[in-house]
Amino acid sequence: MMNKEPDATQQTRPRNAGENNMYKDMKGSAHRLAPPEIAVKAMPEDERVWVPQAEGVWFRPLMLNTLVGQWCNLLRVRRAGVLSRHLHPNPVHGYVIEGRWYYREHDWVAETGSYVFEPPGEVHTLVVPDDCSEMITFFNITGSMIYLDEANKHVGYEDVFTKIDMCRAHYENVGLGADYVDQFIR
Ligand code: FE
Repeated sequence: MMNKEPDATQQTRPRNAGENNMYKDMKGSAHRLAPPEIAVKAMPEDERVWVPQAEGVWFRPLMLNTLVGQWCNLLRVRRAGVLSRHLHPNPVHGYVIEGRWYYREHDWVAETGSYVFEPPGEVHTLVVPDDCSEMITFFNITGSMIYLDEANKHVGYEDVFTKIDMCRAHYENVGLGADYVDQFIR
């Protein structure tokens, strides 16, 4: 007699399937171990929320993920020219909210409403064109930003922890308090 194949749907079916209480131990609407959600006005009304990064360059933290080593922020640039040459070993996703920019290595221009996927392992040089007075882009960055000079020599480094440190120092300075950044950290 042939063995009957095990029923795959039975095998993979979670134990609690069909029950109404998906999680036995809820905290509000989520599992008790789930981190709290974040819902904020991305474009802040208080100018102090923008953290200065370089001359004419600011970032606004939205989600600083210390478990994955990843962060979401808005980048605001109010100067034209070459901003940085960098490598990121992990993927980056961007959505342009205002203005435009491009990478010297590519023939496309990211404009208001553009989505950009930056593959891991690419070196590129961010440029804001002369006729753009302000660009704001949402970036979701995993891992790190490794800044390079023209000879690909390593000249700087950023990750979620350096971002948090910058936020803490700035918010302390401007009177919001270093712990203002805590609401964006998970
Ligand atoms: Fe990039």
